[in-house]
Formats: sequence, structure tokens, C-alpha cells
Amino acid sequence: MNYFPVFFNLAGQKVLIVGGGEVALRKISLLERAGAAITVVAPDIEPELLERAAAGRLKVAVREFVPEDLDGARLVIVATSRPAVNRWIANLADSRNIPVNVVDDREASRFIVPAIIDRDPVLVAISSGGTSPVLARRLRERLEALIPARIGELASWLRALRKSTRQKLRDSGGRRRFFEAVVDGPAARRFIEGDVQGAERTAQQLLAAMSTAPRAAGEVWLVGAGPGDPELLTLKALRALHDADVILYDRLVSPAVLDLSRRDAARICVGKAAGNIGSTQEQINALLIEHARQGKRVVRLKGGDPFVFGRGGEELQALAAARINFSVVPGITAALGAAAYAGIPLTHRDYAQSVTFVAGHAQSGGREPDWRALGAAGATAVFYMGLARLDPIVGKLLEHGAPGTRPAAIIAQGTTLKQRVITATVATIREAAARAKVESPALLIVGDVVALQSTLAWFDSAAAGGLSLTA
Ligand code: SAH
Repeated sequence: MNYFPVFFNLAGQKVLIVGGGEVALRKISLLERAGAAITVVAPDIEPELLERAAAGRLKVAVREFVPEDLDGARLVIVATSRPAVNRWIANLADSRNIPVNVVDDREASRFIVPAIIDRDPVLVAISSGGTSPVLARRLRERLEALIPARIGELASWLRALRKSTRQKLRDSGGRRRFFEAVVDGPAARRFIEGDVQGAERTAQQLLAAMSTAPRAAGEVWLVGAGPGDPELLTLKALRALHDADVILYDRLVSPAVLDLSRRDAARICVGKAAGNIGSTQEQINALLIEHARQGKRVVRLKGGDPFVFGRGGEELQALAAARINFSVVPGITAALGAAAYAGIPLTHRDYAQSVTFVAGHAQSGGREPDWRALGAAGATAVFYMGLARLDPIVGKLLEHGAPGTRPAAIIAQGTTLKQRVITATVATIREAAARAKVESPALLIVGDVVALQSTLAWFDSAAAGGLSLTA
């Protein structure tokens, strides 16, 4: 992050503008709305600015800038048409610790001015870090369309509600829950539609109900985070991340997904990193139960889908035994995500009529999958956690009748900007994987459908890195 975002209270504060042209005028209008005490210094000044000065709205000095003009200024905006002069003034201001902006000169500026959506008192500010004002403006247009016109009035109404709430709901968690219910529910909707009385009535009913109800019981949402690309999250998963008090996540969950969670939610990593002993399943279960018993909303976030090789079932059994409420939000499992992004349809009328997800690591109790069925014609097999055991897997397939020529693929870090797809055959995949030095997490896909990859591959991870707005 190159800039620290702040909102500056400039009411009654001296702001110096050096320059009196068109550009200065635009900044001045905004500063006037913020209640700043504006001084403009320039040898040539737009007639409109002179009019405003005559009306007592700002001060003007029709002359060249002198260093003493900086005295007492909280902020300086420099907008003369001479770049060298702009820089000289910027240096002077900076050496006196006065934040300075030089219009259209990011390097000389100590602060930059964002694109804004002004729905007073709600203010949305957008910045591209000075890289592209056009991009910032486009984003603003998109957000404009999403934000209701009456959001400002809504904010003022919520502020008024806060007072009565403080007396009736003593703890801050309860108040937050109340306001979430108001903002997400019928009360805010009525307000936005213009039914202020209906909104007030609905909110007061809710407040009455919540102030007499016993303390909220905690609950756990078992949430699938998908295979990596944050845009593959479900809307429900996103909502759970926004509402969570605590998030217990696995190492497989991508940082980009975690970034979407509520800022002040506690995030606890319970995953096992290579060479590092993570939490045991018992410890994870105990943590889930402990946080839920404190009345918190707990998100248990897992890579892919929680019910596919995710031990989600075991965690829910522990919660059920502890009588804790839970719900499950499915996610896109690695096989579906990685196959889609690699261009490998898992079934196809001509090539595969079944697909099996198999755990590639050694089975406890010596239970073996049906190797013959996994390697049979017309079948697709997807091995999870199989990279380290590629040798024995290939050996078993060949031993049980799979032809060495059957297509096979390894997809590493599927759906992410680091995705790699290695295609070969059952006989050659070990060597291909070793040569490519693939790293986990990775899937092995075996079946004739893999041959379609050469025509159906569409996702260029390197190119996507440059294009995606969210990356
Ligand atoms: N619950 C998860 C699977 C957990 S097991 C799911 O539904 O996807 C962990 C295994 O999943 C890894 O060893 C790897 O085989 C696979 N995996 C997870 N994310 C992956 C990704 N982005 N690309 C390829 N394989 C992945």
C-alpha cells in the first residue's frame, strides 16, 4: 500500500491554493463543501473565483506566490501551469511538514485526491494510487450504480437510532447484531424506499425483541472456500466471511479469500504447514466449541468443499455432540475448479461416463480403492493428495489393467494465477511431473478426457494476472 487513506476534517482550517485557473477552481469547489478557509494565490485569477472572493467565500491574493503564504496552512494544493514552480512550492511545503498535492504530479505530491461518491454523510473514496485516474473513475461509476441514492439519509437515520439503542442493548456485540439486522433487513429497505415511518416501526420492534431475548447462542458455519480463485466463492460464503466474529481457516485457503473477510474478525490458522505441526483435529474441535459457547459466530473455513476430503463431517459430529448450532456452505471442490480451469471436462459422452474422487494418500486400515474400476475405459479418476504417492498410484493402475497410454494430467495450484497443467500418459506422468518440478497442492486426473485439454484449455494464468481487477 503506497498511501494511507484518511478523511480530513478541514472545517475552518486554512487551505492554500497556488494557481487560479480552471484546475484550481475544481479543487476549490470541493474544499468549499468541506468548509475549509481557502486562500488562493496567483497572478491571474478566473473571474468566477474573484466573484466568490467578493462574496466573502474565500480570500484571493492577485500576485506571485511567496513562501510566507504557507504560514498557518493545514494543506496546500499547487496548480500553476509551470511544473518547476509547482515543484519548488511542493518542496517548501514538504519541508515545513504541510501536506501538499501538486495537480497531475504524483511524485511531487505528499497526498493525492481520490475519486469520490458523495452521499453526505456517506463518502466513498477511490484511488488507483495515482496510477490511473481513468480506472478510479470507472470503478466509481460501477459503485455509483450499486449504492442507493438515499444511503446518506439512511446513515443519518442510523445515527439517530444509535442513541435509543445504547440504552436498551448494553453489550456492543448485541448492538452490532441489531444494526446488521436493520441494515440487511426490511427496516433499511423500507427507509430506502421512502417509508420512513415503516422503517422506524420495524426497527423499534426488532429492538424490543432483541433487548428482552437471552444472549445470542453461538453458531458455526462450515464454509467451503473453493480451490483458490476468490471469485469462485459462493455468495453465501462471502456473507459468512463478512458476518464472522472468528474465522478458523486451513492452510489451503488462499490469502485472497481471507482478504474478503470482515476486518475485525479474529483469524486463526489451524492448518498444517510443511515441517510444522498444526493443530490436531481434537484441538480444532475444541476451539470451535469454545468460541461458539462464548456466543460468537464462528466460520470454519476450508479449502475447496468441506465435505470432500475436508474432515468437515468429523467436525460437525463434534459440534452435534456439544449441541452447538451449525450450517454448511458448500464450496467448489478442487477437482471441479481445477478441471474447469485446465479445460478437462470430467465427463463427456464420448469418453467418460463416470468420475471418481479418490484420496491418493495411504488409506488407514489398509483399505484399498477399486483400482480396476479407476483405470477402466470410460472412467475418469481424480486423485487428491496424491503427488507424493505418484509412484505407487501409477503402479497400482498399471497392475490392475490400465493401459500405459491412457492420458493423465497433473494440475497444480488450480484456478490460481500460479496454475500449472502437465499432461502425459499413465506410463510417463511420473517423469513429466519430476521434470516440471510441480508442487502441491496438486491433483492427478486419469482418463481419456484428459486428451481434450489440448483443444479446450482456455485459462492463461499468466495473462489473467495482468487482467483481473480483483487479483
Ligand atoms: N476439501 C478440499 C480438499 C482437501 S484435500 C477440496 O474440496 O478441494 C487437499 C488436496 O486437495 C490437495 O492435496 C490437492 O490434491 C487438492 N487441492 C486443493 N486445492 C487445490 C488446487 N488449487 N489445485 C490442485 N489441487 C488442489
